[in-house]
Amino acid sequence: MSQWLYNFGGGAAEGSAAMKDLLGGKGANLAEMAVLGLPVPPGFTVSTELCAAYYDNGKSFPDSLTAQVDSGIRHIEKAAGASFGDAADPLLVSVRSGSRASMPGMMDTVLNLGLNDATAAGLAAGTGDARFAYDSYRRFIQMFGDVVLGVGHHEFEDLLERAKEGLGIQLDTDMSADDWRDLIEKYKALVQARLGAPFPQDVGEQLWGAMRAVFDSWMNDRAVTYRRLYDIPESWGTAVNIQAMVFGNMGEDCATGVAFTRNPSSGDNRIYGEYLINAQGEDVVAGIRTPRPLVASAEGDVSAPALESAMPEIFAQLGEISKRLEGHYRDMQDIEFTVQKGKLWMLQTRSGKRTAAAALKIAADMVAEGVLDEESAVSRIEPEALEQMLHPRLDPDAPRDILAHGLPASPGAAAGKVVFSSERAEDLAAKGEAVILVRPETSPEDIHGMHAAKAILTSRGGMTSHAAVVARGMGRPCITGALDVRINLEAGNFKAGGATIGEGDIITIDGTRGEILDGEIPTIEPELTGAFATLMGWADNIRALKVRANAETPADAATARKFGAEGIGLCRTEHMFFDAERIIAMREMILADDMEGRRTALAKLLPMQRQDFVELFDIMAGLPVTIRLLDPPLHEFLPHGEAEICDVAKAAGVKVEEVAGRVALLRENNPMLGHRGCRLGISHPEIYEMQARAIFEAAIEVAKSDGGEAVALEIMIPLVMGGKELQILKDLVDGVAAKIADEHGNVPDYMVGTMIELPRAALKAGDIAEAARFFSFGTNDLTQTTLGISRDDAASFMNSYVRQGMFHQDPFTSLDQDGVGELIETACRRGRESRADLKLGICGEHGGDPASIHFFQKCGLDYVSCSPYRVPIARLAAAQAKLKQQ
Ligand code: PEP
Ligand code: MG
Repeated sequence: MSQWLYNFGGGAAEGSAAMKDLLGGKGANLAEMAVLGLPVPPGFTVSTELCAAYYDNGKSFPDSLTAQVDSGIRHIEKAAGASFGDAADPLLVSVRSGSRASMPGMMDTVLNLGLNDATAAGLAAGTGDARFAYDSYRRFIQMFGDVVLGVGHHEFEDLLERAKEGLGIQLDTDMSADDWRDLIEKYKALVQARLGAPFPQDVGEQLWGAMRAVFDSWMNDRAVTYRRLYDIPESWGTAVNIQAMVFGNMGEDCATGVAFTRNPSSGDNRIYGEYLINAQGEDVVAGIRTPRPLVASAEGDVSAPALESAMPEIFAQLGEISKRLEGHYRDMQDIEFTVQKGKLWMLQTRSGKRTAAAALKIAADMVAEGVLDEESAVSRIEPEALEQMLHPRLDPDAPRDILAHGLPASPGAAAGKVVFSSERAEDLAAKGEAVILVRPETSPEDIHGMHAAKAILTSRGGMTSHAAVVARGMGRPCITGALDVRINLEAGNFKAGGATIGEGDIITIDGTRGEILDGEIPTIEPELTGAFATLMGWADNIRALKVRANAETPADAATARKFGAEGIGLCRTEHMFFDAERIIAMREMILADDMEGRRTALAKLLPMQRQDFVELFDIMAGLPVTIRLLDPPLHEFLPHGEAEICDVAKAAGVKVEEVAGRVALLRENNPMLGHRGCRLGISHPEIYEMQARAIFEAAIEVAKSDGGEAVALEIMIPLVMGGKELQILKDLVDGVAAKIADEHGNVPDYMVGTMIELPRAALKAGDIAEAARFFSFGTNDLTQTTLGISRDDAASFMNSYVRQGMFHQDPFTSLDQDGVGELIETACRRGRESRADLKLGICGEHGGDPASIHFFQKCGLDYVSCSPYRVPIARLAAAQAKLKQQ
């Protein structure tokens, strides 16, 4: 016969903390505390297996349960010294849910169960406190009526309000025993009227009804939504905990409260929490009365003494228990307690939620205290939580007026004046104004505006749209795909959340949450020393994967190093031509209709390009730098409108019509699959030649300069589909190197490698590796081309795919390990079969995603490369991936 019930209490328990799957978090920890000899009211947990059986059997309980529940109740009666349903000395119980993962407030609870007309009278006589007894009874009818019988909570509240009005009373605490007794009659009449049956007086019937209600609440709308949001499987089910009641509301020597064993905001090693004298647990949560602090120094109001001074013995005992629990669980705990007539009872303990700053401090402190080792401390920190630490963030205490939501494309927060063009952004920024660039979407010519802006908002585009990628690289907070922001460029305003925001109005962008807020919200600067630095140091000692950054500007490269990047894994050279002056030369080059025209334009670009590399190599000081040769989706570079066409014509010294004609000729129906990547190098080799020359000359210049270190050069060819294509371009680079050697007497060491961004490239990795010294997976394009989903257009429908479970997460954010992942594994294997020392990396956006990093560790990659601001997250995730693999 299955065991459905697990007893605890009286210094022993059948369960333990290790049995969370079966007993739920609450039940497992109650058992654990009982075994530790802590004062836990006796009770039993009905297992999650029963929940599964209940639903499998059309919501009915197995016959074998009845005898087990009877015996569970006998166990509580014996330990508590009272009898269930006994009028002289009644046992009251609480019935609470408790699933494997905490789902706060999502499921139902019934307190004070076991009260009826007779036991309420018995409780009054036994405690000598009729007021308490009838208050408890009316609370029970109200809760049971609502949760189990389905009579609206507000109907009971209305009756209570009317009773108080009639008596001229404001506070519940002013109700007398007789007042409560009168109200109870009204409550019972309400139940009779609504159900056509009396309120159940049979305590057994009450117990089974409550158990059933808690199991039913596993499937209520709130719980279903919560599970979807937090990815909790329905199959887990909930347990039910039935436990002897203890009362924090039996007088002034009673109390109830919650405590964190350390401060959950700062991580300070001091107990932190709140309590209420003469109250039941739900009063603290409901916020009807303002709770008081546990510790004196935290007091705002001296008229409300801290637990420390109001109940010093209880406070001391709570402190001891809190230390014990922390030592036992080796983690900060979130505790619920009740004091009944001067005796402390523990009702719950669980790992406490905390801010990233607190998480780091607690982990570092616990290592110093000898509670944790470094590896456990590193495993404890949620990598994504570091995000909070790396960008200026909004003051969490400031009020927020949300105008609209969008995709949290680049984290951090900034406030400024709204502008609708990059030119305006640059003008105002030059005058020292903070601006927010608001565009339907951005393109390369917005780069200067994006740079000038404090944050970027686009109404269209996804997590890997131009705006998102560039903003992340720049460390600008950014929201994309804010579909509810209706931009009217002509009118110079946008409408959102019922408001119309014009140019010059101030908004705040919270790129971490994807919230667009009215007005300016104050921010807090990041702190990267102390516990943060300590933990990152430990992570670096553990991890095997190297972490590089995607960066092309000196500012990005400097940020990347500040955050601990060990090189540049992707320098997107096309991003280096977005400057107003350069883009014209770039356009001239693209639009030239003969080799000579192109060479003239390239000659203008060469010195600029060389200077860029000099600065980059200087900053990276001998670390590896992977430079990707030009990969422009051409449409991003074509001039828009007459004015821009005129600019290019003037610069090239040709007729406007000629340029306009070339623009028309070069327009592509599908630029993402068009004349981009190495296809440009194949058809116009002079472009890649210019770039290779700029790279080599810059490397020579830096190596020669005072204190200059030779850069570890990696030249990367984008978007290849096979070995032959790469061989042609490698020969081209080697040819330039040979010329440089002739001209300069030497050429710096370099490697030629390629990006793997197309399914065909992954499949033909063996051939490709013959010419490539390294592969870097371009998972943005590889995802786009494997799924056949445009990375710029996925936002509008991807949510439906995630909601319906086709993807666990947006595959442009977290790698589709099943599909794209299989191509990566295949390419790694075939590549290394062909070249054993092939270096493997990844530089798509997934390089900064912890779940994807675990996958890359398993594939045996050498490094990941991500936005500078995700480098610390990647360092930590890489350490955790290594620990998990061990
Ligand atoms: C990629 O495709 O993953 C990549 C890194 O290149 P880009 O985003 O520049 O296309
Ligand atoms: Mg790409």
